[in-house]
Amino acid sequence: MKAIALVSGGLDSTLAIKVAKEQGIEVTPVYFRTSFCQRESFSQLEKNIGQPVKVIDISKEFLELLIDPPHGFGSSMNPCIDCKILMLRKAKELMSVLGASFVITGEVLGQRPMSQNRQALNNIEKKSGLTGLLLRPLSAKLMPETLAEKEGRVDRSKLLNFSGRGRSPHIALAKKFGITEFAAPAGGCLLTESLYAKRIKDLIAHHQLDLENIELTKLGRHFRLSPQAKLIVGRDEKESILLEKLASKEDIVLTPNDVLAGPTALFRGRPDVGLIELAGKITVSYCDLNGKKEAELFVKNGSAEKKLRNFSCLERKEFAALRI
Ligand code: SF4
Repeated sequence: MKAIALVSGGLDSTLAIKVAKEQGIEVTPVYFRTSFCQRESFSQLEKNIGQPVKVIDISKEFLELLIDPPHGFGSSMNPCIDCKILMLRKAKELMSVLGASFVITGEVLGQRPMSQNRQALNNIEKKSGLTGLLLRPLSAKLMPETLAEKEGRVDRSKLLNFSGRGRSPHIALAKKFGITEFAAPAGGCLLTESLYAKRIKDLIAHHQLDLENIELTKLGRHFRLSPQAKLIVGRDEKESILLEKLASKEDIVLTPNDVLAGPTALFRGRPDVGLIELAGKITVSYCDLNGKKEAELFVKNGSAEKKLRNFSCLERKEFAALRI
């Protein structure tokens, strides 16, 4: 019998797969990636479960959830309930393609107060269209029987009754399966970080939430210069190189002149003389000026030739109002 397993890469989804495989279920592990997931590697997970993970990008569909998620946000900008519903709907679509009879997750009853209480778990199952087709092996004995259990195709007696936030049963089970190393849960979803969330709120407030702008939110220092324009200043050489790479032909890139040490900055939005002046002042303020109050920057717009311009520093007190 075949099943699709949603994986985060953390211990719980690993254990859920191991429990299912122990009773002969053929599992296809799937990781649904959004723009906000930071997990890059699945090697540890793949080693623990003994098979490759299928990665599917759902960034575009996920964006719509951020504007007005029907079930609201968690502690920050994380729309966890709607995110799970979306991922499970996607898994349901895959069932017929892969010939799977049901879907598995590593969810544990009561582990997260908002998205894993009994009502939320029932709601997620119903809204994803998977009623009776969603098996949570780690808490299955505390949940209603799934179709596969009723039909005897899954042995309920071999499933578990984990609940709450304690980790001891998980660690003991990992030990039983010989799992000693595993990645952190949730894969570091950026939306759970309140400082990062401010950048997403700013994009939404200015109707600029798209995949290209989201990529920029992951690096640099951010400044809102006008309702239509932002400046992103690199924090180190790596970010400066990345900013140049991410610049579109409409963006304006500011870089230090040949003898000045400092970051690259990217101006995105509707430019005018005053805003470019402001962007230059902010960028120069992060340069090594050796006691001077001004310096030259190259200003380059798309394919146009880069031009040198002189900018003075911005007063420290002016930064606070612009920083996101
Ligand atoms: S933490 Fe992020 S990836 Fe995980 S369920 Fe919530 S919104 Fe989705």
